[in-house]
Amino acid sequence: MKTIGMLGGMSWESTLSYYKALNIGVKKSLGGLHSAKICMVSVDFDEIEKLQHQGDWSATARILSDAAVAVETGGADFLLICTNTMHKVADEIGARLTIPILHIADATAEKLKEDKIDRVGLLGTQFTMEQDFFKARLSDKYNIEVVTPNEEQRKIVHHVIYSELCQGEIVDSSREAYLEIIGELRNKGVQAVILGCTEIALLVQQSHTPVPLYDTTEIHAAAAVKRALSF
Ligand code: GLU
Repeated sequence: MKTIGMLGGMSWESTLSYYKALNIGVKKSLGGLHSAKICMVSVDFDEIEKLQHQGDWSATARILSDAAVAVETGGADFLLICTNTMHKVADEIGARLTIPILHIADATAEKLKEDKIDRVGLLGTQFTMEQDFFKARLSDKYNIEVVTPNEEQRKIVHHVIYSELCQGEIVDSSREAYLEIIGELRNKGVQAVILGCTEIALLVQQSHTPVPLYDTTEIHAAAAVKRALSF
């Protein structure tokens, strides 16, 4: 088994989901007392979040690439950046590594392709929904059309992520708001909706809606387990 590298803490609430999913995935495949080999560096999200909202992405890239180098030095065979949003600086992080990054958009797109989905809704931070680092990878590399909520809805989704989910707060009225937005995306003709932020599955699960959901945390972790066990 290879060692999975994790760049965590963005937020730690979702890093917990990753840690659990990786270990459950390895135990499911190998049984008994088997667990995932993991090397993780977890950052202080307060620092990252401030820089994101100031638009200082190069400072976030410096912090995260230092952390990623530490993960590689600690023995990881490949790296998971455990957030969709910070894939914005995946190329800068990768430039300082010799190990590969398992990109969250690639893992997600491959799963969508497997299920023959080529028109999909996307929920995430405003950075993920409005910029190109995630969406364009799906459309340009995989020919998957991505539909996002309207501006007002994007603000709601973003606000809930930072002021509730990343702080461990699960609020029923926010779930209702998300479900309404998911329903509207469905009305725009999407076949499924990507939970493109690693905390959203803490709030909305498949049991809450008939619209097929693609949780990037679960998909990314499953792809990592497969890779760790396939060497
Ligand atoms: N974990 C979230 C994501 O997947 C948001 C936190 C962040 O900005 O990294 O995008």
